[in-house]
Amino acid sequence: MKLNELEVNIDYFEFDENLYQKLDATPVLNPKLVSFNKKACDLIDLDCKECETQEFLDFMNGKKLLKNSTPYSMVYAGHQFGYFVPQLGDGRAINLGSVNSWHLQTKGSGLTKYSRQGDGRAVLRSSIREYIMSEAMHSLGIPTTRALAIIDSESFAHREWESESCSIVMRLSPSWIRIGTFEFFARTDDAKANLTQLADYVISQSYPHLENEQNKYQKMFYELVDRSSELVAYWQAYGFMHGVLNTDNFSMAGLTIDYGPYAFMDYFDKNCICNHTDNEGRYSYNNQPYVARWNLMVLANAMGSIIDEEKAIEYLHTFLPQHENVYLNLMNKRLGLDGSKSSDNNASLVKELLGSLESSQMDYNVFFYRLTNLSSFDELNSITDIAVFREPLINWFDSYKEVCEKEESSFESRNAIMKKVNPKYTIKNYMLQEAIEKAHEEDYTLVNDLLKIAQNPFDEHEGFERYSNPTPLEHANLKLSCSS
Ligand code: AMP
Ligand code: MG
Ligand code: MG
Repeated sequence: MKLNELEVNIDYFEFDENLYQKLDATPVLNPKLVSFNKKACDLIDLDCKECETQEFLDFMNGKKLLKNSTPYSMVYAGHQFGYFVPQLGDGRAINLGSVNSWHLQTKGSGLTKYSRQGDGRAVLRSSIREYIMSEAMHSLGIPTTRALAIIDSESFAHREWESESCSIVMRLSPSWIRIGTFEFFARTDDAKANLTQLADYVISQSYPHLENEQNKYQKMFYELVDRSSELVAYWQAYGFMHGVLNTDNFSMAGLTIDYGPYAFMDYFDKNCICNHTDNEGRYSYNNQPYVARWNLMVLANAMGSIIDEEKAIEYLHTFLPQHENVYLNLMNKRLGLDGSKSSDNNASLVKELLGSLESSQMDYNVFFYRLTNLSSFDELNSITDIAVFREPLINWFDSYKEVCEKEESSFESRNAIMKKVNPKYTIKNYMLQEAIEKAHEEDYTLVNDLLKIAQNPFDEHEGFERYSNPTPLEHANLKLSCSS
């Protein structure tokens, strides 16, 4: 469809008017297109040729509204690094309504009522990171928001010691409601009514099968616990670290949302911290399951007036076992194994692997890709050659070989399992950094190349072989700042 024909649906204005703000975007100066995502165009039935028009730039810049659109920003609260902040909100995001149940939101469109001390802007680097990573996660089957396009501009924002150009990224999600939204609603004057309405809204967006159920809010909570335990298991299996798992960055739909200083781990380190400001490692790789469970406990508390909080907290005891189960099933696949033949679902083998990856200093995701292509135990050097220390890995292979023999699997059968879950390419921070540096010089080719790689990580990409190799040591496990 043409941009002019797209019509949005807006269903948020049923809420009390203190819970959102209707507003217009503040356009950036001289916007130019950085990239658009054809796959996301398909989600909203937009003819992707439209993305190359001036009209599309105006749409991204908030100057052109789709049919029926009334832009608005939402309020929420949240626990940031464990401390409750009573009012946050879309400080730089503006919602435009939904198309095919995908809620369109621009990030970086200027000040809102909820901007606090921020400037309402998003810099190019952070928009590129969000845009590419959400597509990378999607292609690995990890639940996530998506992104449609990015524009850059000649407006500038101050970040740390530098002035950076302002950009806008258009994001899409089945739901933008966060745990923090419930925390805010729980503290309003008419909390119970507002929470009920919000829970119904989330159910309609993300749990429609619960609509006519008894105890539907309770069941929604349980299902979110299930979904989140699975989500984090995927993160762990792929070495993904979100970086800022505050309750306001935790989705009520079980999606990965709000990409900031995230990373796919380069070299395996269970205590890896990717967020420069996270001094204590609250959001370290290993802590993610515990923090997710803690966030859900905050939600149980916020929903206390509409659910049985005690039972909800009781249900949270299933979080870690569920998480472990999904995680191990996925790790078995990543190793080409069928854990059901072992008494512990190969938990001890996986644990031993993580220890040996860590002490051998091995690129985590490259390890799985190389393992996928291994065709004989006499060729272990195709893997151990890229480790800083070989011995720990060689020892692990003795255990692996034993399990393979016990399972009576062949290299071919394991390859068939592994090639579906172990991509050739994992988007690392250093690759994004290269694309960002070029983009700052108005060369967007690498952004578009990385998008293609992110969307097809199992395929060959001519000219990008180096990206399938271990991260150069000097670029490994970088810590990124929250400033974005
Ligand atoms: P984050 O941790 O990046 O998800 O952001 C936490 C809160 O700060 C959210 O309410 C954001 O909307 C807000 N925020 C972050 N950066 C800015 C900015 N540059 N201008 C206004 N609000 C911002
Ligand atoms: Mg956020
Ligand atoms: Mg209660």
